[in-house]
Amino acid sequence: MTSTVDVGAPRERMLHIIVNPSSGNGAAGKAWYSLATDVSLRGYSFEVRFTEQRGDATRFAREYAERGAETVVAMGGDGTVNEAINGLMTPDGPLNPATRLAIASAGTGKDLVRSLGTRTFSQMLDALDAGHTSAIDLALLNYVDAESGEPASRYFANVADMGLGADVARRIEASPSGKAFGGMVSYLVQAVKTIRVFKGKQIRLEIDGETVFDGAAQMVVFCNGGFFAGGMKIAPLSSLRDGLLDVVVLEEVSRRALLTSLLPRVYIGRHIGQDGVHHFHARRARIDTPEPFLVELDGELPGVSPVSVEIAPQILKVIAEPGPEESDIGQ
Ligand SMILES: [Mg+2]
Repeated sequence: MTSTVDVGAPRERMLHIIVNPSSGNGAAGKAWYSLATDVSLRGYSFEVRFTEQRGDATRFAREYAERGAETVVAMGGDGTVNEAINGLMTPDGPLNPATRLAIASAGTGKDLVRSLGTRTFSQMLDALDAGHTSAIDLALLNYVDAESGEPASRYFANVADMGLGADVARRIEASPSGKAFGGMVSYLVQAVKTIRVFKGKQIRLEIDGETVFDGAAQMVVFCNGGFFAGGMKIAPLSSLRDGLLDVVVLEEVSRRALLTSLLPRVYIGRHIGQDGVHHFHARRARIDTPEPFLVELDGELPGVSPVSVEIAPQILKVIAEPGPEESDIGQ
């Protein structure tokens, strides 16, 4: 369904909006009326399309960019945002260099928007009004598609991970209550259940052509953004604009150490430097595993290893609060 509201605003006050009404356990459907009111009061005209199935947000974003949209607003969770980004991008770069993305976060995790400084609608709209546009890095992940078994690739803006984290995501997706208790609590409940039964797997991690880890690992996280799983500070010093991925590897450690020391520490970003935790910077990375390892990407579970990942520096324009390490690139 497409609706258009025209308040007679000039072209730069036109928003092309995608809403996933089922994000945040359906909260996005209600929150949409609040966003629609806010953007109208601020003098924006808009066109809105509501997603009904997987893939719609990618298709809508692509169509908007092809039609010359200046600002595409993705309203939903990290998965919806990931889909929109993959619609705005081609393997060679942005489909339309004039298009920028604004994120109206309505999911349970809100992880990417933590790094962008736009967790709430009003923070995002204030940044939009002020013209704060920032060029952020994306990472392109190559993996094996879970359904077809064919090689596939996808950009991610926040985090891709393998092992424990992906297994927790699979359990959340499969559990009848889903994310009903909100991102962090659902994650913690399922993380504790998963840790009880999860066993590490052999991996070989290559960074910029060099093997840096070869052994049993419980988790590997490729971080563009700094937060995952509803607020865990997985890469506390990461930047969305430094042209580097932060790669965090958790070796096989005891369940006790994981539950009583590392898991609490990761919420406050104090796990780096602890025994069993490795941290690397990478432009390119590759992971080979003797058996397929499930991959999670911005909250979705698209496939399995082997994977390779490559950073695409400052390739996507987004509405964000200017970061401490960069200046605003303006409109
Ligand atoms: Mg970075």
